[in-house]
Amino acid sequence: MKQTVYLEDRGQDFLEWDIEDGVVVGCRPFQAWSWKGTKVHNESIQPGDILSITPPVTGVLTTLNYPVERVITQLGRAQLSTYHGAMGQSQRGVDCVCGGLSIFYSWSWAGNGKARCWHCGAWISWPDLEVRQDLRKGSARLVEEAVSST
Ligand SMILES: [Zn+2]
Repeated sequence: MKQTVYLEDRGQDFLEWDIEDGVVVGCRPFQAWSWKGTKVHNESIQPGDILSITPPVTGVLTTLNYPVERVITQLGRAQLSTYHGAMGQSQRGVDCVCGGLSIFYSWSWAGNGKARCWHCGAWISWPDLEVRQDLRKGSARLVEEAVSST
């Protein structure tokens, strides 16, 4: 699983971490040399969480002082389905990784190039169909509600 974690800005030199299978693989905008390879021990990461980490520089288990503000999780790739609606080409059926089918009009993607799955609330981008869950502080409950209503 691949996640991008945005940390609360308290004046530190790094604000974003890419975490893959529990290891930091990217760090922005600075200090990648210091944090790449850091082990992240949290089983799941939510906005508001404090990360429990072992940086390679010290090899010592510690906690990061900057709370998580936002988490983007790559869930995989959706598939275009064979849905043919009454309005033909202006609609596309998309099978999300959650198993739910959403019907999007072409203008659903307009502007920011992404539309929200009707079932799990994840964002599906066009045209690559990457499915991402985007949790920000204060929005976590909203997404949970969308999931439980399916
Ligand atoms: Zn979905």
